[in-house]
Amino acid sequence: MILALGSLLAVGAEPAGFRAGDLPVRAAMFNGVSPAALGPFLDFVREDLPREGVNTLVFQIDYNYRFRSRPEMAAAPAFTEAQIKSLVQACRAAGVKLIPLVNCLGHQSWAGTTHQLLTAHPEFDETPGLFPGNKDIYCRSYCPNHPGVHAVVFDLLAEVAAAFEADAVHVGMDEVFLLGEETCPRCAGRDKAELFAQEVRTLHDFLASKGLRLWLWGDRLLDGRTTGLGKWEGSYNGTARAIDLVPKDIVVCDWHYDSAAPTPAYFALKGFDVVICPYHRPAVGVAEVDDLVRVRSDNAVNTSLAPRLLGVMTTNWGQSDRFAAAYRAAKASGAKAELPAVETFIRVFERVRGARAADEAAPGADKH
Ligand SMILES: [Zn+2]
Repeated sequence: MILALGSLLAVGAEPAGFRAGDLPVRAAMFNGVSPAALGPFLDFVREDLPREGVNTLVFQIDYNYRFRSRPEMAAAPAFTEAQIKSLVQACRAAGVKLIPLVNCLGHQSWAGTTHQLLTAHPEFDETPGLFPGNKDIYCRSYCPNHPGVHAVVFDLLAEVAAAFEADAVHVGMDEVFLLGEETCPRCAGRDKAELFAQEVRTLHDFLASKGLRLWLWGDRLLDGRTTGLGKWEGSYNGTARAIDLVPKDIVVCDWHYDSAAPTPAYFALKGFDVVICPYHRPAVGVAEVDDLVRVRSDNAVNTSLAPRLLGVMTTNWGQSDRFAAAYRAAKASGAKAELPAVETFIRVFERVRGARAADEAAPGADKH
């Protein structure tokens, strides 16, 4: 027995093939890419993403696509299929996995502008006729219990996934504040955690039927009060219990821009694959990478837990052409980038590469 135990312990600290410092997901997320700026963005994809070690591009397209299945759903400026194919080719050449992002449930408006789903189909609105001009609300939501909404949303997700030649779709679902409203005849009085989870399951099951994995933002699955994360990065509106009601095979994009919250470990302990997402504070992004690698390293013998901490995804909420220009200027000069999001992107992937190099240089690394 003693010998057997000794042999077991001597097998090594890490299971074969697992490298704590080698993050499998090294992603960058972009919105604000316009069809007119696609050419320079493709250069950025081909030349700069591989240079940084980025292997996944999450590209927010929403309704800016010339849908064939639902032509009335194309919002200007809309990408053509040929333009998306050029993006697919650029990603393939760069060794970058491409994932489209289409905001589902929430974020159906921005400031005074209501987006295409609810302008083409105002009957899907959770609060139809209320909040004229979108005054006094953050964003509109569609009603997850409207009997017609999923036929449209499914067509859009399927067509976008096919055009992107993707095996995963990011469905957004962050910052959903209008949900289960008392004025909705279908949702009034319903449990908001169950409503949110129901929508995740509905989208998940459809995507799974097409061989597609669901990615989403994680904020509605975190209790904003208990964690102290507030009502944006966490939930104040009763959705947090959905964390125990949604399928475990989704990918949670756990965004924290102002501090490195220890939530990736929480999602991983709950059984989810998780990606930490910084934005515009370089020190926070670096700390998030360090924390993720440390938890992977500390738990490297736990073949269930550690591999669920997939990696990092930088976000960009400004214009992509400005991002690419600021990135190139910073790389050329060696100076700090003009845009905080760019500086974060540079520092985060520098840290990611450093973690991998440290792992490779560690004693015993060759045994893997
Ligand atoms: Zn409703």
